Amino acid sequence: MKISDILVEKTPHLSFEVFPPKTDAAYEGVLKATEAIAELKPSYMSVTYGAGGGTSKIASHIKDKYNVPSLAHLTCVSSTKEEVHQVIDQLKAAGIENILALRGDIPQESEFPLPNHYQYAYELIEDGQFPLPGQYSHACELIEDIKKMGDFCIGAACYPEGHVESEHKKDDIAHLKQKVDCGVDFLTTQMFFDNNILYNFLYRAREKGVTVPVIPGIMPVTNANQVKRILSMSGTNLPERFKAIVDRFGDNPKAMQQAGIAYATDQIIDLFANGINHVHVYSMNKPEVAAAIQANLSEILNK
Ligand code: FAD
Repeated sequence: MKISDILVEKTPHLSFEVFPPKTDAAYEGVLKATEAIAELKPSYMSVTYGAGGGTSKIASHIKDKYNVPSLAHLTCVSSTKEEVHQVIDQLKAAGIENILALRGDIPQESEFPLPNHYQYAYELIEDGQFPLPGQYSHACELIEDIKKMGDFCIGAACYPEGHVESEHKKDDIAHLKQKVDCGVDFLTTQMFFDNNILYNFLYRAREKGVTVPVIPGIMPVTNANQVKRILSMSGTNLPERFKAIVDRFGDNPKAMQQAGIAYATDQIIDLFANGINHVHVYSMNKPEVAAAIQANLSEILNK
């Protein structure tokens, strides 16, 4: 089933995310977690794309064994166009109907000219040193190729607080509009911890003509280490209310998990109450977290 068909439904829905294993040894554990999340019957499940591979296999399993629609992420910046085309063909052969088309982060350790920080990535692009011939520079080029290669429902990423490489939010929104015009059916947001940031972003995006459905992405933070990673990766704003929770409960794993789930639940209720019907939860291979959030919303989701 295409995600665009799910998004027309006017009742509250949740989707969940898993990431593939980084090593073969970890495969069974990831599969077990994936299956436990699929049993919750979310409206769809997304599978991230990383260096270890395995996205197509897990996305097919979710769809074929659990009849849960799956969304395969695909990044393009670390591969040649030829390699990416092969992956698109594999996804098509596996019957995957939904792809989240992403540029990916410009690699820091590869044959590419090496940026040590996002600002250098920006400079390399500006200087014309990136991309190398036969490679992609932005997600919009990947979206155009996916569109040519099959009848996929195509999603893309958006950033309520602006992408880290963008000096100005208005440029980021202009690039987003270009990307959507390349053939995007829906957008999923980067995580955010203050819903007002999302509402403000939606206003600015709509004003600039981005009219496709936007699915807010909510990250339940269940341990204090995640917070450090989030801050280093995405520059996400952490509200005082959230920081107080981490300060008070960060060194008590069970309390932190409970508080993180409650905070995410609260954000989701507010989003539903403000007319959003679909929320994506970054459940990170943690069935207990996905299940707890779903249970907290049982009457709202009517499951
Ligand atoms: P783009 O849309 O190409 O944008 C990247 C930067 O370039 C932005 O600053 C944008 O403003 C600018 N830009 C875009 N188009 C143009 C243009 N035409 N001209 C000039 N500048 C332009 N990473 C993974 O490795 N695996 C995953 O599975 C994964 N899943 C993700 C899921 C979501 C929902 C999100 C929000 C992110 C995900 N990421 C993932 C991270 C993502 O790959 C990085 O954030 C990456 O740096 C940007 O990818 P993008 O597709 O948004 O890039």
